[in-house]
Amino acid sequence: MCSAMGTGTSLGTRNRRYLYLQAMGIQAWELRRPQTEAHAVGHQVVRTQETDNPSIVEAPEGPAVVDLDWTPLQTAVETCTLCDLHSSRTRSVFGVGNRNADWLLIGEAPGRDEDQQGEPFVGRAGQLLNAMLLAIGLQREQVYIANILKCRPPNNRDPKPEEVVCCEPYLMRQIELIRPRLILALGRIAAQNLLRTETAIGKLRGRVHQFRDTGIPLIATYHPAYLLRSPGEKRKAWQDLQLAVETLRERA
Ligand code: SF4
Repeated sequence: MCSAMGTGTSLGTRNRRYLYLQAMGIQAWELRRPQTEAHAVGHQVVRTQETDNPSIVEAPEGPAVVDLDWTPLQTAVETCTLCDLHSSRTRSVFGVGNRNADWLLIGEAPGRDEDQQGEPFVGRAGQLLNAMLLAIGLQREQVYIANILKCRPPNNRDPKPEEVVCCEPYLMRQIELIRPRLILALGRIAAQNLLRTETAIGKLRGRVHQFRDTGIPLIATYHPAYLLRSPGEKRKAWQDLQLAVETLRERA
C-alpha cells in the first residue's frame, strides 16, 4: 500500500502539508476533496487506446533490452548511441528512485540541469515536484522518476518522434521492472507519447486513463516547469494529485 494512504494525519503532518501546499501556491482550504472531472463522471476509467498521433514512426532498430536487469539496462542507456542526442549530451539521465515504487512519474526529457547532473527533475522544477509529492505525503525517494527521453534535446526543444521511438524500449523495460501501481505523466509530451495521442494536456488531465494494455492507471497532469510559468494552473495539478491518491486507494 502506498505510504501516502491509510495513515492517520497528525497535527505535525498537517502543518507540514500546509507548508508544502503553500509552496505549491495552493490555499489550505483545498485540502478538502476536490470536485475533479473524474468525480463528475463517477471516477470512470477512460481506456485511452488513443492512437491518433500521426507522428508515430517505426524504429529502424531499437535497443535489445527485453531481458535486461537494472544494471545492464542502465549501462545500455549510458552507452546508447541510437539517436543523434547522444552526441550533444553531457550525461544520459536514466531515472532515479525506488525501483519497487507504487508511483512512477514520467516527464519529458532532461533539461540543462538534468543533463549536467544525470538526474531527472532537479533545479526549480524538481523542487516544485518534490513539494507536490510531499503535499500528498510522499518523499521523492519513495517514487521512481524517469523521462520519455534519456538524453537532452538541444535547447530543450520538443523530442522528435524518431528519438522517442528509439528511446522508448528503455522506459518500457523500466516499467516492466518496477511494475508500478500508478503512472503519473508530467506534461504534454509525456502524456501524449504514453497515451499515443495528440489530445491537448488540458483534456487529458483530470481523469484516469489506462497505460496501453498493462492495466496500470495513468493520470496526466501539468509539468512542474509549466506550473512555474503558469502558477494559476497549480490548483488543477493539485486536483490531479488528489485523483491519483484516490485512484490508488480505490485499488488497494
Ligand atoms: S535519447 Fe535515448 S535513444 Fe537517444 S541516445 Fe539517448 S538513450 Fe539513446
